[in-house]
Amino acid sequence: MSAKLFDRAALIGIGLIGSSLARALRRDSPGTRIVACARRSETLATARRLGLADETTRDPAEAVRGADLVVIATPISAYAAIGRRIGPALEQGAILTDVGSVKEAVIRDLRPRIPPGVAFVPGHPVAGTEHSGPEAGFADLFRDRWCILIPLPETPPAALARIAGMWEQFGMRIATMSAAHHDKVLAMTSHLPHLIAYTIVGTATDLEDSLKSEVIKFSAGGFRDFTRIAASDPVMWRDIFLNNREAVLEMLQRFSEDLTALQRAIRWGEGDKLEERFTRTRAIRRSIIEAKQA
Ligand code: NAP
Repeated sequence: MSAKLFDRAALIGIGLIGSSLARALRRDSPGTRIVACARRSETLATARRLGLADETTRDPAEAVRGADLVVIATPISAYAAIGRRIGPALEQGAILTDVGSVKEAVIRDLRPRIPPGVAFVPGHPVAGTEHSGPEAGFADLFRDRWCILIPLPETPPAALARIAGMWEQFGMRIATMSAAHHDKVLAMTSHLPHLIAYTIVGTATDLEDSLKSEVIKFSAGGFRDFTRIAASDPVMWRDIFLNNREAVLEMLQRFSEDLTALQRAIRWGEGDKLEERFTRTRAIRRSIIEAKQA
């Protein structure tokens, strides 16, 4: 057992990520008092039943009172209203961080609400599953994954170090970068793949019934892997695309050009082009395995 990481942690949002964080705190910092906040009483009842929180409230302002750690872990579209609500209630000396999958929009929405004397450390633990809600979380979700932190000019280095230390305690590796860079990288590694998966599964859904049943029956041929990604939370993903519009559109443009090139190679029977492309992509898979991110 390690030392207490924080005295009182307010977790605004207690779904997959918030509840995994609660479980990791319970395991590694049992002295930390956890306050969970969500909109619905059922969510909070589940959090209490699972022993994820010492206190629960539907009011974000009440949740953050007296907390030395505040973590926002709701869908991104809720951030602006939460920021307005908690701003005046944040404790002097508190650290506010978040887990949102897009960073420029989150900083735009939260930064103006943070009073002097409160440290803001935007963050993104790059770890997840396609499941949602407090029951879906687990303490080991973060193990061996990367956590990206975005130090702002006003972020005190000590606050950055404490948030980095907490994620490291939960098994994460830390990278720091600018919000714009984060949003570009994630547009490629996460947002575009989700968009492609949603499209493929959507196309299959629109097929006539006789073909559709065969698609499900023979899904192990590749389609099945896309359905897992396309089962991800619709609200969370709506918010990601609306809030990382420019970077996603840029990656999508490049992707469409590459797709058109492959389409052309197939049409003209240019096997060497196809083979060369597939050989290069195979090497990427190898590097991911070597980097232990498979
Ligand atoms: P989730 O499982 O759907 O949980 C969202 C939580 O937020 C629920 O407890 C929900 O409870 C609560 N909530 C929603 N609106 C709220 C509001 N206005 N005020 C207070 N609580 C509210 O979502 P998640 O997967 O944990 O994702 C949370 C955040 O983590 C998102 O910003 C996402 O971008 C980021 N993230 C997700 C993943 C992933 O793979 N899932 C990975 C990394 C980062 P109620 O419905 O009862 O309000």
